[in-house]
Amino acid sequence: MRRKLAAGNWKMNGTRASLAEIGRIAADHGGAACEIMICPPATLIAAAVTAAGDAPVRIGGQDCHARASGAHTGDIAAAQLADAGASHVILGHSERRADHGESDADVAAKVLAAWSAGLVAVVCLGETEAERDRGETLAVIGRQLAGSVPEGATTANLVVAYEPVWAIGTGRTPTLDQIAEVHDFLRAGLTSRLGPAADGVRLLYGGSVKPSNASEIFAVSNVDGALVGGASLKAEDFGQIIAALSAA
Ligand code: PEP
Repeated sequence: MRRKLAAGNWKMNGTRASLAEIGRIAADHGGAACEIMICPPATLIAAAVTAAGDAPVRIGGQDCHARASGAHTGDIAAAQLADAGASHVILGHSERRADHGESDADVAAKVLAAWSAGLVAVVCLGETEAERDRGETLAVIGRQLAGSVPEGATTANLVVAYEPVWAIGTGRTPTLDQIAEVHDFLRAGLTSRLGPAADGVRLLYGGSVKPSNASEIFAVSNVDGALVGGASLKAEDFGQIIAALSAA
């Protein structure tokens, strides 16, 4: 049985004033039936852990370096995220792939670093609109899955997020059938690599999830939760998504 996961990605948004939103989520949804995770900017991770208090709200990073330490100005090691209190890290987000030229091999190296530090890797995959229009979606997803998830994946150390690039921050979402097609494909791909253990790996959908569409997306086959950007910034909206997932 997979525990559903509502994950928030704050991206480069938020200051200490925003920690009140985490406090509200912790207070209002700490007893939710699903797991909750929020990935604030790295500057806020330690304070976010404090803001979550005793509530079971996990705090994650948004990226880590592939190396454990060294001369990499401006980068953050996985162990530093863990030291700040993070339990998870998002890796291979399309904004990092696009803005920083991260390849599947780069992402796989970061996943290994995350695992070495004891973090759960939330690996993001997704096609561009041009790739979907050319009928290449499953080929792209299959290639990204093979290249971005290294050997050693387990139910406990991996979450996979399907995030169509064209749906992120646009208000557009795939049809429910299109989401099901990719999630079923991901489950099959993981099963051929991991065997029955693949049944336990959570598959999140991400891309313009909001309170008004969360319930229908959570009813889709092999959708075990969501990675939420914009709608995770306000406790009111993210709380409604958590409630929808808890009821799914
Ligand atoms: C994301 O960037 O991971 C994301 C899903 O963003 P949004 O929900 O804003 O589309």
